[in-house]
Amino acid sequence: MFDLHVHSDASDGTEPPAQVVAAAAAAGLKGLALTDHDTTAGWQEASAAAREHGLMLIPGAEVTAQMGPVSVHILSYLHDPGCPGLSEMFRTARSGRLERARQIAANLGEDFDLSWADVLAHVAPEATVGRPHIADALVSVGVVADRTEAFARLLHKGTKYYVPQQSPTPAEAVAQIRDAGGVPVIAHAMASARGATLSTDQLEAMVEAGMLGVEIHHRDNTETGKRLLAELAHRHGLIVTGSSDYHGTGKPNRLGENTTAPQMVERIIEAGTGAQVIGEVSL
Ligand code: AMP
Ligand code: FE
Ligand code: FE
Ligand code: ZN
Repeated sequence: MFDLHVHSDASDGTEPPAQVVAAAAAAGLKGLALTDHDTTAGWQEASAAAREHGLMLIPGAEVTAQMGPVSVHILSYLHDPGCPGLSEMFRTARSGRLERARQIAANLGEDFDLSWADVLAHVAPEATVGRPHIADALVSVGVVADRTEAFARLLHKGTKYYVPQQSPTPAEAVAQIRDAGGVPVIAHAMASARGATLSTDQLEAMVEAGMLGVEIHHRDNTETGKRLLAELAHRHGLIVTGSSDYHGTGKPNRLGENTTAPQMVERIIEAGTGAQVIGEVSL
């Protein structure tokens, strides 16, 4: 039982890293990867909690990239957080996100009684800011009932409040991750309900650029998409993962609702050279 895509309040999850790890232990998981958006800020707290609970922890992150109209999320495992290229990419992403969130909040503030302070009240210190924090603020001022409604009505790409974000291309992100000794795995690549997805040719190009795995078992991937990803993985001998994309109470996704085979976890640990795994993979 390994869940390799989990968020804490170091980004847009609702629980601190130690609480997420405790919840993973309570859910009966043997291990997890902490994959907060564009940051490694949760690693230390999560590592200490993993040792305490006897859980395996793969330190990771979820990198946002952009390919034309397609928002591409790339999970990175075991990268060196001190690597200048990658840490600069994360810093740029976080400051860009902050500016963009301010703009979205200002746009919403024209129609609703929402201030930037309302948003900041939901962002943990040093956390990566995202639309989910604006969603939480909209809940707290009584505009919507939950994050799901906030995205459906006011935060999705098609609304007049939306502001796009500058992000690296998938090939650039993959190169930076590999450069930092990390293992890049594309997240929910066939989540058609979220918007446009990459073509098979574009996915092939990412493999060419150094991508090592695909997240297949994720609730947002369509069944047809999962088959396509499985074929891609088979053609290239890629690592295959399954995961929950847990965000605490911010999403219905439950810890361990999808899991990754121990053999695949071992392949990630073998391939990752930038950081140490906490604990062991017990088969
Ligand atoms: P951003 O990073 O600011 O572009 O916001 C995207 C994040 O919002 C993703 O990482 C998701 O975790 C979250 N998200 C997207 N759609 C929803 C939704 N319908 N309900 C809750 N969270 C969502
Ligand atoms: Fe998220
Ligand atoms: Fe994602
Ligand atoms: Zn995620």
